[in-house]
Amino acid sequence: MENHSADCIFCRIIAGEIPADILYRNDHVLAFRDISPVAPAHALIIPLEHIASLSDLSPDHLHIAGQIMLAAGRVADILGVRQSGYRFVFNSGPDALQSVFHIHGHLLGGTGMGWPPF
Ligand code: 5GP
Repeated sequence: MENHSADCIFCRIIAGEIPADILYRNDHVLAFRDISPVAPAHALIIPLEHIASLSDLSPDHLHIAGQIMLAAGRVADILGVRQSGYRFVFNSGPDALQSVFHIHGHLLGGTGMGWPPF
């Protein structure tokens, strides 16, 4: 796996070393259910390549960033929330409470949500 990090729990899910409820996979991204869901529908969409956070994206990653965004609609379909609506959230850094340092978008849906989120 390109840029695999042995210390990264999400890289280990990609490698099949840790089980996960996989929803979708293609050559660029993997989507699976969050182990501690905060909404009736809660999936994580991650690049297969290990990139720590949004702040580590460079122009070289444009294709991967696009693949993550494209996958959101596909996963929303799979979870049955495309029509009702969903939120796609990236936590980056301490103020946002990022806890796993492999970029992941939280796809949240299946309920009404509030705004702002703090
Ligand atoms: P963050 O706080 O970094 O934005 O989100 C990390 C997310 O990963 C959390 O919502 C947490 O529940 C989820 N998570 C952490 N470890 C695992 C795991 O081993 N499996 C799955 N499916 N989700 C995980």
